[in-house]
Amino acid sequence: TLEFADRVGRVEPSATLAISNKSAELAADGVDVVDLSVGEPDFDTPENIKQAAKDALDAGHTGYTSTPGIPALREALAEKLHADGLTQYEAENVVVTPGGKQALYEIFQTLIDDGDEVALLDPAWVSYEAMVKLAGGSLARVDTAAHDFQLAGALDDLTETVSDDTELLVVNSPGNPHGAVYSDDALAAVRDLAVEHDITVISDEIYKEITYDGVEATSLGTLDGMEDRTITVNGFSKAYSMTGWRLGYFAGPEDLVSQSGKVHGHSVSCAVNFVQHAGVEALQNTDEAVAEMVAAFSERRDFLLDLLRDHDVDVATPQGAFYMMPQVDDDDTAWCEEAIDEAHVAAVPGSAFGTPGYARFSYANSKERLEEAVERLADADLI
Ligand code: PLP
Repeated sequence: TLEFADRVGRVEPSATLAISNKSAELAADGVDVVDLSVGEPDFDTPENIKQAAKDALDAGHTGYTSTPGIPALREALAEKLHADGLTQYEAENVVVTPGGKQALYEIFQTLIDDGDEVALLDPAWVSYEAMVKLAGGSLARVDTAAHDFQLAGALDDLTETVSDDTELLVVNSPGNPHGAVYSDDALAAVRDLAVEHDITVISDEIYKEITYDGVEATSLGTLDGMEDRTITVNGFSKAYSMTGWRLGYFAGPEDLVSQSGKVHGHSVSCAVNFVQHAGVEALQNTDEAVAEMVAAFSERRDFLLDLLRDHDVDVATPQGAFYMMPQVDDDDTAWCEEAIDEAHVAAVPGSAFGTPGYARFSYANSKERLEEAVERLADADLI
């Protein structure tokens, strides 16, 4: 018999994937499920990006690349980061990874020792907790749900929670699962705490390109005092609808790049060669397609908010990403089970993100399907 390591015993399988699997099983049995549980855009990857990958394959870009990525992509990423105001990062500060997830995994592996404390703002994306636990770290959690998911309302709690013992804080704005975009004042308060307690902050900006109503998500690393203590994480999955391509990156101090390079080099070697070439094209020539996708998400957000509010559902208005978190039953897990079993609507329980009483709905779906979902939930008396 196999003897499993403690570290795998410390984590649970991804709750979002569990729901998606159940939804796929029902679909395989011929059941028409409206799946609001998925964390990916429903658009195809823009044509120019696909063409760039095909061209790169034809040009023979099929071998390993240098560990941190091809120079053309690292340079294009440095330019993108500069355009976001993150002028502290040059190409040497950028590591290209197979997905933003791998970037985060490498950062935790590189910075967290047994017992080191990492602070999360709940509800938080499910994998942060798992990655911290895999690295042996401990968690300190601050709830934002009571404040419409705005960090501004949770600053007193954050101040009480973090201390000189806090190694890392993770900030994700716009955030999964709630879609909130944190205000500049709230980010400035984070800066003050990070400086006071010498905390390094991971700014997960994977949804940065997807915001609504003219709201812009400020990059934490642009704040005075945060230049050297921010690790900026991003990826191509969400903005460019490239989830299956597995392309992401992080940017940080050069010593982080060299130390995490050991984890990167000894695990994945490099991101896929021709995919990196397609990444350059995505960064340089896809603004219009991105704007079209964001416009569609914005319309669907308004549509779903209106439908839910027509049924008196309590739901905060998200300003970015493609998720919202309506309040459901106190037992959100039972509510989501009923939703999938009886209404054939898949959503993720808030408990999975540290916030019971809510569910995450993804609106990366057509308006027809969103309307169908709300009708079914109403018919089943779930809303
Ligand atoms: N960060 C957040 C908050 C996410 O929601 C996701 C994906 O769901 C990721 C990072 C990682 O995405 P990927 O590995 O596809 O780049």
